[in-house]
Amino acid sequence: MGSGDARQRWADGVIRCKNESRRRNSFVRENQVDARVQPKNARAPVISVDEALARIVANVRRLPPREVALLDAVDRFAARDVSAGLSLPPFDNSSVDGYAVMAASCAIGTRLKVVGEQAAGPDLSLSIQPGEALRILTGAPLPAGADAVIMQEETEREGNEVLLKAEVRPGEFVRQRGGDVTEGQKLLAAGERVRTQTVALLAAQGMSSLQVGGEVQATVVSTGDELVAPGSPLRAGQIYESNSILLQAMLTKCGVDVVSVTHCQDRAEEIEAALRAGARCDVMVITGGVSVGAHDLVKPALAKIGATLDLWKVAVKPGKPFLFGRANECAVFGLPGNPISAFVTFLLFVRPAIFKLMGADDAELRLPESTARLRIAVHNDGARPHYVRGSLRHGSFTPVGLQESHALFGLSRSNALLLAPPGAEIAAGELVTVSTWE
Ligand code: AMP
Ligand code: MG
Repeated sequence: MGSGDARQRWADGVIRCKNESRRRNSFVRENQVDARVQPKNARAPVISVDEALARIVANVRRLPPREVALLDAVDRFAARDVSAGLSLPPFDNSSVDGYAVMAASCAIGTRLKVVGEQAAGPDLSLSIQPGEALRILTGAPLPAGADAVIMQEETEREGNEVLLKAEVRPGEFVRQRGGDVTEGQKLLAAGERVRTQTVALLAAQGMSSLQVGGEVQATVVSTGDELVAPGSPLRAGQIYESNSILLQAMLTKCGVDVVSVTHCQDRAEEIEAALRAGARCDVMVITGGVSVGAHDLVKPALAKIGATLDLWKVAVKPGKPFLFGRANECAVFGLPGNPISAFVTFLLFVRPAIFKLMGADDAELRLPESTARLRIAVHNDGARPHYVRGSLRHGSFTPVGLQESHALFGLSRSNALLLAPPGAEIAAGELVTVSTWE
């Protein structure tokens, strides 16, 4: 990808996302570079983020659902609607330790005869008459005849009797059968994310497993002669390869099974072999080599393995050289090598596609959004929408670090993205909508 992706000046306290000085017609020229592998798109303009996303999402199909243990369903998507088979609570029970009573026969100073005890556990099928009370513990079924519970703290026990020291209203401290959930009530919709809280509700329904969307298997392929695996010595001109671990971590966070990670030198046969092997997965995420240089060998390699190229180049910064295609059933994503471009395009395009494969409904494909007050003015003088990385804390968004596509430190400190459209001049103090991913 081109150098000087974004410039930023701090002197006047404004984050500026500037276009580097390139010839205006360069987009068209670049799009004509590889007509062999891209006959349909040869003259296509750079498309918008929304259009690219719509095309990608339309291009991937949900995988067949599977049944998993409830714990494994967390952060997956329900494959079908789930309705309650059981009312919750399943029976009237006490919410405190105290005495089950008939409210109508109670007043301050009344003494009631204690006729037994019901703890939480097997229902002893006890009952009370007017003038009687039953010792009851939290979660225990209410005896027949009782319509309220008086807390232990509001009573005084005197041998076989209990003295009431407070008023008792009907229904007090009783958890009604079905008060929380009624039988037949919809608990979860198909395509909805299963949260940690959701599995608690399903367990309370007696469920031990759930049908969720299919598991996505992915492969990661990184490319570049200049890249060295972390842990190896670095020679002059080399940098450490950091996208594989970034993408593995992001895929794993999405719930994907990463089955292989391969690094290729910029050699056509090596890349072709890696792509051929990777295309056996549901998803292949390639990084680097998708731009227009002589060392950008991913597109020709995709053509060699018979993949279709559905789109290449999106009007977004960072991340313009992004590509999407298909190799049979495998969804192929070519991410720019610059780490921030890879990160942003993963969030914008790979994450929603994966979630769709996993059975998510449309609402789950969007990144979560929050409203925040912008701490530093942001100007986008460039021609592409710019995703500014920053920190969202307590309702404030602060752009962090160098806003350039290679600059990892700012990204490492950020937890939100602000979309600055072309020409935007957003003043400090303005309310903005930011996207989050954690
Ligand atoms: P490319 O997209 O291959 O032209 O790479 C663009 C920039 O990203 C170059 O400066 C590369 O060195 C860098 N880059 C490419 N792949 C990686 C990677 N896997 N890890 C870190 N940097 C990378
Ligand atoms: Mg490269």
